[in-house]
Amino acid sequence: KITLFWFRRDLRLDDNVGLYNALQSDFPVIPLFIFDDDILENLPKNDARVSFIYDSLQNINEQLAALDSSILIKKGKTQEVWQSLIEEFDVQQIFFNKDYEPFAIKRDLAIAEIAKKHNIEVLSFKDHVIFEEKEITKADGLPYTIYTPYKNKWLERYHLAGQALEYDTKPLFSNFSKNKFGFPDLKTIGFERSTIKVVPHNLTQIANYKETRDFPALDGTSYLSPHLRFGTVSIRKLVNWANKKNQTFLSELIWREFFIQILFSFPRVVNHNFKPAYDGIQWRNNEDDFKRWCSGTTGYPMVDAGMRQLNETGYMHNRVRMVVASFLCKHLLINWQWGEAYFAEKLLDFELAANVGNWQWAAGTGCDAAPYFRVFNPEIQQKKFDEKAIYIRKWIPEFDLGYNEPMIDHAFARDRAIATYKAGILK
Ligand code: FAD
Repeated sequence: KITLFWFRRDLRLDDNVGLYNALQSDFPVIPLFIFDDDILENLPKNDARVSFIYDSLQNINEQLAALDSSILIKKGKTQEVWQSLIEEFDVQQIFFNKDYEPFAIKRDLAIAEIAKKHNIEVLSFKDHVIFEEKEITKADGLPYTIYTPYKNKWLERYHLAGQALEYDTKPLFSNFSKNKFGFPDLKTIGFERSTIKVVPHNLTQIANYKETRDFPALDGTSYLSPHLRFGTVSIRKLVNWANKKNQTFLSELIWREFFIQILFSFPRVVNHNFKPAYDGIQWRNNEDDFKRWCSGTTGYPMVDAGMRQLNETGYMHNRVRMVVASFLCKHLLINWQWGEAYFAEKLLDFELAANVGNWQWAAGTGCDAAPYFRVFNPEIQQKKFDEKAIYIRKWIPEFDLGYNEPMIDHAFARDRAIATYKAGILK
């Protein structure tokens, strides 16, 4: 008789709520990870995120080896894998941490159905966020759609609790089942190692976060995003640290939860405007323009540097993400969903809630979004945030030789964007 703990986007042994609870169940715990064919079949064979997940699992497996245990790795369609796991093992309980994306909610319900048929208990836990689902709501119980009051309520509840409880799993490690499952190589999973690597995260470089975070030439942000995406870092530890040391940084972590909460409460935002009044905008959706944007050849250095950073590293600085997103939606009048999909393909930190939330913010179609008449001027953004063109030169080596002409005049694009939005927004 065993308990299965299913790792998904919580790839760590330390301070992991679901694992902490699993290790207190009545049965030895087999840790499990499933490479899901439904997700994998849409990815290139050298996807950097798969390499990152693989390395994180290997790291977990090494820690387990010291306890005479190991992680069970499976690959296939999730439901089929679960059917076979239930035949293979005498499973009594299944533990996992909740995932709030619509696809994951559906998947987990299907697994719970399968388990129910076999009288297996399924227990799921909040681990990915400090406050989930309907924990932070307006007085009338409805979800917040504006960030600042959400943040205030979030902070009020956090301070009321004192801090986020951390879960020390170490004393429970003897409850891992003693097993030696083979650890597959990446080829067996159908992938190759990517040359793109996640930048190591670093909290010392955000000592002056408030002053440095907007300047892409400085290493002024934490690079934690892929770690938060895949759970290699605990959000509770991070928030408790930020609350003591860095309130501006804490506000960004609350933005993350705000968008997770928006996606949970309004799953339609994945492929619809949050504000239906914006459905009438006549996007131009010109494919050649889109290609120039993707390849970083628009002639606007700040836009091009950002897109090249993304293409080469799977990362882009937040300030530049805002500039390129605004440029796509407003200068080129391309539907934000095209940009969102491109980012989803390339970003190592791709997270549906944050990506959709921020894209809709930039397009003006989202909750609490940038007003439609605010059109970033890429040249002014460059002057303000990369005055000496240090960031730009890093990603555009040919910059000093005389750079391409902009593909579209800013004043013209700005007027066209405002007119198009004005005409399209339904009264
Ligand atoms: P830091 O500045 O160190 O921030 C720390 C953490 O706070 C981040 O890791 C992230 O978890 C959270 N955070 C910061 N800013 C935001 C924000 N605006 N929205 C939500 N969470 C935030 N972030 C993603 O994690 N995944 C995405 O797919 C994503 N897509 C984006 C698309 C666009 C168009 C824009 C403008 C922003 C997007 N962001 C996304 C938000 C932000 O750009 C990244 O979180 C940040 O650049 C990651 O770098 P960092 O960890 O060094 O950030």
